[in-house]
Amino acid sequence: MKQGEEIVCPHCKMDSFLVKTNLMDGWTFKGEILICSLCKQKIADISNDNVKEAPMLDGKLDKLAALLGEENANKQILLESNEKKLFCRDCRSYISHPFMNRCQLHAKEVNPMDDCRDFTR
Ligand SMILES: [Zn+2]
Repeated sequence: MKQGEEIVCPHCKMDSFLVKTNLMDGWTFKGEILICSLCKQKIADISNDNVKEAPMLDGKLDKLAALLGEENANKQILLESNEKKLFCRDCRSYISHPFMNRCQLHAKEVNPMDDCRDFTR
């Protein structure tokens, strides 16, 4: 059934045609229905089933993508900690001055390329 289709209305028994209208519950939009053009009685619902299925499929794909992305990120962190040396210049306690570089933690002068067992990124 579709809008403009000619029918014999089951309510008023007249030769009529279908009119599409919004089904409202107070101010809430409930969907679209087909009504008789003469007596305004409801003849049929307009199904929205196809519209509802699409977002669910998208949600699954998003989850999968998020899962893959997380795995890649974890691998990258592992690679970084294995390959990179922990230089003092990358440490949180390292303070760069024009004439000397200090370690805040040990309160002493350090070389930017030193490594330290108390390293904090
Ligand atoms: Zn009717």
